Amino acid sequence: MRLAQLVAQCKARLAEAGIADAAFDARMLVLSLLGLETKDLLIKGDQEIAAADVARIEGAIRRRLAREPVHRILGEREFRNLRLKLSPGTLEPRPDTEVLVEALLPLGQEIAQRVSSPRLLDLGTGTGAIALALLHELPQFTGLGVDISTDALETAKVNADLNGMGQRFTTLESWWFEHVTGRFDIIVSNPPYIETGVIPQLEPEVRMFDPHLALDGGKDGLDAYRNIASAAGDHLEHGGIIAVEIGYDQKQTVTAIFISCGYTLECAVRDYGGNDRVLVFVRKSDDSATV
Ligand code: GLN
Repeated sequence: MRLAQLVAQCKARLAEAGIADAAFDARMLVLSLLGLETKDLLIKGDQEIAAADVARIEGAIRRRLAREPVHRILGEREFRNLRLKLSPGTLEPRPDTEVLVEALLPLGQEIAQRVSSPRLLDLGTGTGAIALALLHELPQFTGLGVDISTDALETAKVNADLNGMGQRFTTLESWWFEHVTGRFDIIVSNPPYIETGVIPQLEPEVRMFDPHLALDGGKDGLDAYRNIASAAGDHLEHGGIIAVEIGYDQKQTVTAIFISCGYTLECAVRDYGGNDRVLVFVRKSDDSATV
């Protein structure tokens, strides 16, 4: 079978099964598994594909037909300019979370100008995506990634090493701040924020393959924010910031939680779809930061 023919056939099978992005998924799976690039589809479309490769691709297509997301099948995905391994204990990083990283870059640069050896803390680090993307672009920082999943912590560490940040990133098993010591200039989190009752309605790609620990925010979806806001004061440096990703309808409720714990909303940022996605908080005054 030839390359172009193989891609077309895979696309047709995925489309027939109702997979929304059949063309993209077919191209991504076939090209990635063959180590080829998009342009190869144009210049090598006639290339004959070895039977063993066709069989590997067949296995991947079957997994996609069972609704496993493309990047879980491939075992990795890009996040900003990093390549990150995925594992069963890690949420697949979303493009929307890149908005959180982007929002923090200017604030992190400002902190790096006035603080020597600035530190960041990523709560529920998963693949390490947020912490590592920030460390990559804020070279003055070191970071701590916290997670309750040991599988996630192992993956985050592997990702730090793979992306050349093994020396600047450590991990800690902890339920939010429980085992965290010390203070940080940036505290960041993309916590679980889906209401428990909504999880059965999520897309099968999310519901069946993202770890529920990383999705389930409790009855009203806000458990993690309450945890984070109530304990962050002991771990935030003077002039530090806390930034969280939120669900599209949680701007008011999450802001109210942080306000009740002595923070003010510094800025709110929308995602690529125009939904509220990122909130950045600061302490009301430097005095209260020491409380
Ligand atoms: N953004 C994810 C989703 O839409 C949820 C991730 C989270 O709960 N932090 O499925």
